[in-house]
Amino acid sequence: MAAQTRTACVALGANIGEPLRQVEAGFAALAALPGTRVTARSSLYRSAPVGYADQPDFINAVAVIETALDPHALLGALLAVERAQGRVRDFPNAPRTLDLDIVLYGDLVLREPGLTIPHARMLERAFVMLPLAEIAPGMTVPGHGSVGDLAARLDAGSVAQLRRIPA
Ligand code: ADP
Ligand code: MG
Repeated sequence: MAAQTRTACVALGANIGEPLRQVEAGFAALAALPGTRVTARSSLYRSAPVGYADQPDFINAVAVIETALDPHALLGALLAVERAQGRVRDFPNAPRTLDLDIVLYGDLVLREPGLTIPHARMLERAFVMLPLAEIAPGMTVPGHGSVGDLAARLDAGSVAQLRRIPA
């Protein structure tokens, strides 16, 4: 019998090298994780960097996954994908080849030194909330309300939805 799965949301971001390609590779890597399926993916979005401004714009997206991995195993797998795609951590908010964050994991609320779920800064980040609202507006951020309502409060001006490239 299949292990119990949970619905989780993962934010993808990249801004050096070939960001579009790296985010695509990120989606593929998510689909290849053990016990994991990608059930929805947002459009790609372009956003201005936050925190340290002197760096290229980011490409962002969000995936909804069904996964049998527990939150810590999922985080470990995401960090391994980041490493495999060549990310180097230089300083906070530094440019990165691929950033993968757990945004939501079912209705779990977890606050540990190395893992905070829901993601600590998701509510203020239009580049997370807008892609998430595109694919999962009815999902709940535990303790805060629906993704659609929360996204509608944000200034969408810093984020541009890219047109889907026709197949
Ligand atoms: P950010 O994604 O906030 O720009 P980093 O990717 O550099 O910053 O942060 C990496 C660390 O953040 C990871 O090593 C991980 O332990 C921690 N972390 C805490 N909560 C989460 C989460 N929900 N998803 C991903 N990483 C998280
Ligand atoms: Mg991260």
